[in-house]
Amino acid sequence: MSILFPAFFFLINCNTNREKNPDKDSANKTDTMKPETKDTGYNLPEDAFKLHFDSEVVDSHNDYLYQVFKRGADFGKKDPFTQSGLQRFREGGITLQFFAIWIPSSEEKRAFSFAKQQAERLKKIEEEYGSEFGIAYSYEDFEKIRAEGKLCGMMGIEDGAAVGGSLENLETLYETGVRYIGLTWNRSNAIGTSAKDESGSSRSGGLTEFGKKVVKRMEEMGMMIDVSHSGEKTFWDVMEITSGPIIASHSNCYALNPHYRNLTDEQIKAIADRNGVIMVNFLDDFIVSGGKETRVKDYYDRYSKDLDLIFEESKGDLITFNKKRYNFILEHPVKGGTTLDDLIEHIDYIRNLVGIDYIGLGSDFDGGITPPIDLYDATCYPLITQRLAEKGYTETDIRKILGLNFLRVLKQVCSKKN
Ligand SMILES: [Zn+2]
Repeated sequence: MSILFPAFFFLINCNTNREKNPDKDSANKTDTMKPETKDTGYNLPEDAFKLHFDSEVVDSHNDYLYQVFKRGADFGKKDPFTQSGLQRFREGGITLQFFAIWIPSSEEKRAFSFAKQQAERLKKIEEEYGSEFGIAYSYEDFEKIRAEGKLCGMMGIEDGAAVGGSLENLETLYETGVRYIGLTWNRSNAIGTSAKDESGSSRSGGLTEFGKKVVKRMEEMGMMIDVSHSGEKTFWDVMEITSGPIIASHSNCYALNPHYRNLTDEQIKAIADRNGVIMVNFLDDFIVSGGKETRVKDYYDRYSKDLDLIFEESKGDLITFNKKRYNFILEHPVKGGTTLDDLIEHIDYIRNLVGIDYIGLGSDFDGGITPPIDLYDATCYPLITQRLAEKGYTETDIRKILGLNFLRVLKQVCSKKN
């Protein structure tokens, strides 16, 4: 385990000599619930990587835990068959990673115990890597773990089948540490109908009576309601019976790519009206229509030796590494495939539709996804910051997208003080 990362984090958190810039977005309705933004006058796009490693970077959806649990991935290693792991999170500047607990079809019948086992596996990881990684159960825990310079992890469930048809189980999952539940995965379940099923011919049921009880109880307990994968009818049923913020932990814009997994303008507006957040997904097929048909080898697939060498030569200095990596990518254009710029179009679209306060990142890494070619694994988040800065996003805008928007919701829903 490299000791460079904690040391490096200390260095980059000690930036001084910053000027205060006015926060143009400060006068809106969500102000009271926001963590304070630190607009400290970075010279963008020049200092984009410095800004990145000085920001809270939240990813609300990563399936890596399943890779550890079922496929033997080693949290401390950069396993070649995964896109994540501690080192990649560190190199990506991630400060809060939500680990999705996913239920494959083969485990649906014992989904509750399967979900609990995965949660326990994450706790074992915490025991093993306690000096570098901590699990948060509230917004306050997150702040504490961050203050200690550790990577913070939280648990979400992808598929309400894990509730196993029992409100008692739901409470057990909360006690175990689960802080959001995606009501469905692609399969409809006892809670409601999925986007996949609703987009097919026959089903448009929405929330079941049991599903309504689950959603209401989640809101009471302080568990975030995740509508990614939910069908539209399920989505609007949720909106009818809840009043707090709702999240879409890994979803994009239907207007840019009419895929059943993407959100319509009306859904995006409804989430924003609730002060919730839409976390954009990195799967090429959700980003551009027909994304999977145009796939080409990503940068790491093509240039792993060059990229590894750039990393080694940077000796743990992540800003130098990213500058060199970014230039390398610019100097080696690749034809075809989906790119980071295509992903940023979804960010632009949400900003233009509802404003900057409702956007975040929900990669879906290690959920079997093929991401944009220049966003090949969890080390690549700094490249997003660089491109946003080049497109004219301000420091405040970027900090919000990277993490503060999601943290606002986390603070509102999962605070001990509530
Ligand atoms: Zn998913």
